Amino acid sequence: MGDIHIDTKLRADLAVREMLAATFQLVADVPTTVTTGCGQRVPLAMTSGDPGVVTCPPCREFAQREHLRLADLVQDLGLMPGSVIAVGTATSAAAKHREIAARFGGPVGG
Ligand SMILES: [Zn+2]
Repeated sequence: MGDIHIDTKLRADLAVREMLAATFQLVADVPTTVTTGCGQRVPLAMTSGDPGVVTCPPCREFAQREHLRLADLVQDLGLMPGSVIAVGTATSAAAKHREIAARFGGPVGG
């Protein structure tokens, strides 16, 4: 039933929550609904960050743009003097984001 969307935070917030929960043994407060790339609020279970799973076309476009933006961002961070991210790490992270962006730009499951 229905399309699978991507949430606007690409689940980054969930990764942070899980990390905090693991570190401080807090109970993770996982949201039951999230805002999608196409501007809807849907149950978290109706979203994915996987280019092979997201079927909503506006969400795929959103994810492609967002991963390209993150690629540029992480690349810039790596080039900053005194950055916590090494240039090599930033470059491979940026490459990963560009690869995911390219998959969102292609057909579902491609
Ligand atoms: Zn959507």
